[in-house]
Amino acid sequence: MTMIERRLIAVEGVVQGVGFRPFVHRLAAAGRLRGSVRNGAKGVLIDVEGELASLNEFCRSLSDDMPPLACIERLAIEQATPRAYGDFRIEASEGRSGESEVSRVPPDFAPCDACLSELFDPDNRRFSHPFITCTDCGPRFTIVRDTPYDRERTTMAAFEMCADCHREYDDPADRRFHAEAIACHACGPTLRAERAASAGPSAQDAAGGAAIASAVQTIRQGGIVAVKALGGYHLACDATNDGAVQRLRARKHRIAKPFAIMVRDIPSARLLCELSRQEQELLESSARPIVLLSRRCDANVSPSVAPGQRTLGVMLPSTPLHHLLVARLDCFLVMTSGNQSDEPVAIDDKTARDSLGDIADLFLLHDRAIASRCDDSVVRLAVGEARVVRRARGYVPRSIRLSRTSRQAILALGGHLKNTVCLVRENRAMVSAHVGDLDTVVSRQALRDTIVRVTQTAGRQPSVIAHDLHPDYASTRVAEEIATELGIDRRVAVQHHHAHIASCVAEYSTRGPVIGVAFDGAGLGTDGAIWGGEFLLVDGAQFRRCGHLAYVPLPGGDAAARRPWRSAAAHLASASYNDAQHTVARPSGVAEVEWSLVHQMLARGGAIMPRTSSVGRLFDAASSLLGVCHVAQFEGEAAMALEAVADLRAARRYSFEFSGDDVWTADPSSIIRGMVDDRRRGLGVAEIAGAFHAALSDLVVRGSERVRHETGVETVVLTGGVFMNSMLLERAAEALANARFVVRIPRLVPCNDGGLSLGQAYVAACALEEDVCA
Ligand code: ZN
Ligand code: ZN
Ligand code: FE
Repeated sequence: MTMIERRLIAVEGVVQGVGFRPFVHRLAAAGRLRGSVRNGAKGVLIDVEGELASLNEFCRSLSDDMPPLACIERLAIEQATPRAYGDFRIEASEGRSGESEVSRVPPDFAPCDACLSELFDPDNRRFSHPFITCTDCGPRFTIVRDTPYDRERTTMAAFEMCADCHREYDDPADRRFHAEAIACHACGPTLRAERAASAGPSAQDAAGGAAIASAVQTIRQGGIVAVKALGGYHLACDATNDGAVQRLRARKHRIAKPFAIMVRDIPSARLLCELSRQEQELLESSARPIVLLSRRCDANVSPSVAPGQRTLGVMLPSTPLHHLLVARLDCFLVMTSGNQSDEPVAIDDKTARDSLGDIADLFLLHDRAIASRCDDSVVRLAVGEARVVRRARGYVPRSIRLSRTSRQAILALGGHLKNTVCLVRENRAMVSAHVGDLDTVVSRQALRDTIVRVTQTAGRQPSVIAHDLHPDYASTRVAEEIATELGIDRRVAVQHHHAHIASCVAEYSTRGPVIGVAFDGAGLGTDGAIWGGEFLLVDGAQFRRCGHLAYVPLPGGDAAARRPWRSAAAHLASASYNDAQHTVARPSGVAEVEWSLVHQMLARGGAIMPRTSSVGRLFDAASSLLGVCHVAQFEGEAAMALEAVADLRAARRYSFEFSGDDVWTADPSSIIRGMVDDRRRGLGVAEIAGAFHAALSDLVVRGSERVRHETGVETVVLTGGVFMNSMLLERAAEALANARFVVRIPRLVPCNDGGLSLGQAYVAACALEEDVCA
């Protein structure tokens, strides 16, 4: 007679809501094992007994053959006394637990192939069902109200399963066995279409399939449809119809910022963009992000979709509803966040009707609530790897593993633009979905909601709060308020660029000091100036400023960011053009009064103006000097436009000089003078813009070499919003590698301000550790 043994197995990681328990059930059945599996607060708990050989095989298969969407972080196996179980069953979850963690909840997944073929199969009972899902795909994070992940704690709880769905849900052999979001035409959520103008239901409103038909018709006629998606509303229109796209821009008050496009499939994407194998994989990944791709010159979309850009943001359908929509439209769809410009995306029907009523002609709605706001994610391929530009749907709430463990829960509030928050607990960092810019009351409320959700679901209130050094950021003020409300006395203010660099250090678990090159628009420095062209030596909670771009005055402070010509004037004045006002002509669109005022201020020496070392503003200056962009509609527009016209093949070089020892500066005035001379000589904009990019790449390398010479440190982190510029990033990374540096560039979090919260939390964690050691 063979010996029966028993094992208690705890599996941690992303193992709920990804078909893990059904998988365990199948494994147990195959090995004739008995016992049970259930969801716990930290993952899945397995109690299993049987013959030793089968048990060993079972344990091996757990990690070797797990479902594609699962991710095991820890597997603990214990021996126990056999209980003579009769069968193997999936048991109810352990009840609510104060220790539950939302980061164990998976992100949302795009429909799998099996579900898609059913969706378009007229003989299938879920033919055309917009909420089709299975254990391998569908909504997760955006429908979860609480953990563990079970139907009763999701927004699907409002829909009682029909007998057919229940049979599939209970059948271990079915691919919907314990698929918590299971639904069908008989029992699932339903669609409806509403005319925007109608106060209530009207004759033109439609339900079910007719609702989709109505949306399709509206789009075909050049109208705008607000579509309730997974983590918020989208606004959709025909991307090939210039009138429709312009109408959307006018109604959304979004003049120039590019729109993303949804295409039906990969061949359609190829009609618009150049697509590498890696980029195709990104488009098809289960997160279905918007991928920034290089645009074909014959791309058949309205010029108003992404004016003046060399790239297009493209995505594939991310839900069955989107699939149904694009399948019936043979056009490319503009698919942009359903919000008023700069406000957070709407997630409930009432807010959507209020805020989008003037924008959309039709609403395509359904009756399943959205539990969490989650925008589309944006990703790009740069320096050979996928890099997140906006981290949201499909990525959140996946946590980032840290190399150090914090005994306290740390909440970091991020920056003022592209805000995210981050909660660090033990050795994991949970970065929230993109909240957005904090200029409006609505967005500050969204920040508050996000904080509540993050702390509530982490099961622990924070005991430490980290924030930016800038006292006037809305996020800093919210940090102060929360500290008071929760009675937290430990606050850590983190310098902006220190946080940028630390977020990359945290992501890579880099040990020891790094040379951080942080180029961006603006961040308050420790000397009161506006930094943004920084070479910092960063080691955990400590940093030292080794060098920076030389200061120039910033006429009008923050206002200068939207007026690149002001940065041009400041840089001309700093480059000793004594009569800067007449060195270049006043651009049309800039008032004579404003023009003279700024030049007078600069001529007086600029003592009353803030000083800045910002590379973002240097890009603005270059863009305006070349006549590319004098007045910007959105942050970064001038730099993006400059990159779009630049030709890097030019052999021209601009030089610049370093001065000072202790904290050196790199003087950009010779770049400015070179550009003015070349312009006078009649050289083309493309070539001058290319030489400008090359000069900045040289600055990165020569600055890094100075720091290496002084410190011996060989690892360089490239970060800050300026490195959204692929031309500069690719060139600088290559040159650094040639100079034998180890180069680190953010992948999991954005290099723009969306990555600040992780860096702030990491710096705070390091600071606490130093306290303990001291
Ligand atoms: Zn599926
Ligand atoms: Zn059903
Ligand atoms: Fe920044």
